Amino acid sequence: MNTIIRKTDVENIDMDIIKEAGDVIRHGGLVAFPTETVYGLGADGMDATASAKIYAAKGRPSDNPLILHIADLETLDKIASEIPKKAKLLMDKFWPGPMTLIFKKKAEVPYGTTGGLETVAVRYPEHPVALELIKAAGTPIAAPSANTSGRPSPTKAEHVIEDMDGKIDMILDGGQVGIGIESTIVDVTQDIPMILRPGYITKAMVEEVVGEVSVDKVVQAKSIEELGGDYAPKAPGMKYKHYAPKAELTMFEGDVNKVIEVINRKTAEDELDGEKVGIIATDESKHLYKSGRVVSIGSRKDEESIARGLYGILRDFDDMGVDVIYSETFYDDNLGQAIMNRLIKAAGYKIIAVDGE
Ligand code: AMP
Ligand code: MG
Repeated sequence: MNTIIRKTDVENIDMDIIKEAGDVIRHGGLVAFPTETVYGLGADGMDATASAKIYAAKGRPSDNPLILHIADLETLDKIASEIPKKAKLLMDKFWPGPMTLIFKKKAEVPYGTTGGLETVAVRYPEHPVALELIKAAGTPIAAPSANTSGRPSPTKAEHVIEDMDGKIDMILDGGQVGIGIESTIVDVTQDIPMILRPGYITKAMVEEVVGEVSVDKVVQAKSIEELGGDYAPKAPGMKYKHYAPKAELTMFEGDVNKVIEVINRKTAEDELDGEKVGIIATDESKHLYKSGRVVSIGSRKDEESIARGLYGILRDFDDMGVDVIYSETFYDDNLGQAIMNRLIKAAGYKIIAVDGE
């Protein structure tokens, strides 16, 4: 398949391009597009045959449901059978924006989109290109991240091209995204809302609006054992190894100076063995590493810069062809919780405590 790639200026959107992309979705095709979180891979979410193409292009397991993206609140009534009061409060505060809500679904939403579940995930994004595309398509757009399943999510069009060129109809290139990690998912079908996946909107921000909030225990797990063998995450996608670079990633936790010392030692040993080592550092620490391919993920003083840099760095290490990657850890509150959740999964839960070594 020949993939059409079109640049779209976010400040001054070319509506002819949007119409062309909207037509592709209307006709059951696939369009990758920018959102404020990461790039999405979109299809008509009300058409199970169109949604099936997303699973095929990504190699995504069929029990991992898709998020439906809407561009107005009226459309929500067509897909959600019940909108609880706490959901309304969250919608008022965070929509449009990086928050996905889980509702009971209406019969019209195909099981092919919801992975067989009776619930549907819905997001109202705020990226102008995403909004125009949804309007032009005239249907809720089902869209997971536009990466091959298991690879880091795309934060710029080049990442989408790497994974999807030749497999989908069209890519809308709207440049680098603003946030860089996926939306916060909140299940509002239960009385106490539950965070199923952390994101830019933090637990504290959700609590401020609806009071008590619970968190699915898969979110904070630092080991697979901690979860118990038969634990099923409420968001099916959270059980898969995800976001993974090609090289094995190990994280080191503890006092940052000690972490740097240990990573320096490990890197020197690996390089003696002829291995290429990638190091995830920060603006504050990068000059303290003695060897290896040292890349700063952002500044510890600015968690948003770390979120933005995360997936791009993992892909950059793939391009450099490193054999192993060592990383510092980050605070796991606020936005740090979402950052650590992604990194821990990318590391396949390999975290080594360095204190007391
Ligand atoms: P992605 O689109 O790649 O960011 O992944 C979407 C995430 O939303 C996955 O973790 C899904 O399992 C989750 N998800 C989508 N629909 C539902 C639903 N109805 N209930 C719970 N989680 C969902
Ligand atoms: Mg994804």
